[in-house]
Amino acid sequence: MQNVHADIESVLFSEDVIRAGIARVGAAVTERFRGRDFTVVSILKGSCIFSADLIRQIPIPLELAFVSASSYGDRTTSGDLEINFFPTGEIEGRNILLVDDILDTGQTMSRLREEFLRRGASEIATCVFLDKPSRRSVELDADFRVLEVEDKFVVGYGLDFAGRYRNLPYVGVLKPEIYGARASVVGEG
Ligand code: 5GP
Ligand code: MG
Ligand code: MG
Repeated sequence: MQNVHADIESVLFSEDVIRAGIARVGAAVTERFRGRDFTVVSILKGSCIFSADLIRQIPIPLELAFVSASSYGDRTTSGDLEINFFPTGEIEGRNILLVDDILDTGQTMSRLREEFLRRGASEIATCVFLDKPSRRSVELDADFRVLEVEDKFVVGYGLDFAGRYRNLPYVGVLKPEIYGARASVVGEG
């Protein structure tokens, strides 16, 4: 593997493991939506990398749309959620695949699910890169998930700490002194 960033204590998922997992989930999503129109909704910012890789493993017609979800306050609590819709095309009557970087408490996914139903979506499936089932506070499981993580704060492959580390091609845990050194005020996606 390439050099690991100096702030990373350990790598949990390598690029190879991520690639294999996304190929598997891409094939499963393809089977679910084959022959039906659907829209992949990428939840910014965290899922931008995952969504880009995922849709290239889904060789059937699809549309791509974006929403952003920002939680205020430190990312260890769920805080208040602000949702922004970017021009998404039709929602009413569409089959939707909601894609997020990580399913933690489940608040983001469940709020967005409600919002898409309110706007008339026909069917909603959920797909997450990482699943942290130990922290769930709402009853919600992803229909598709690439990898399961234990209760650790992870970065890389789209996931940030204080806005940084999204560009790491692997998933890892930061050295403890880094978490203390940078405080995040607004956590975007
Ligand atoms: P939930 O609403 O399910 O509690 O949280 C989902 C959002 O919280 C994710 O989309 C992500 O932005 C953030 N989040 C939750 N756990 C982690 C983590 O371990 N690392 C990072 N970087 N973000 C996380
Ligand atoms: Mg974040
Ligand atoms: Mg997010």
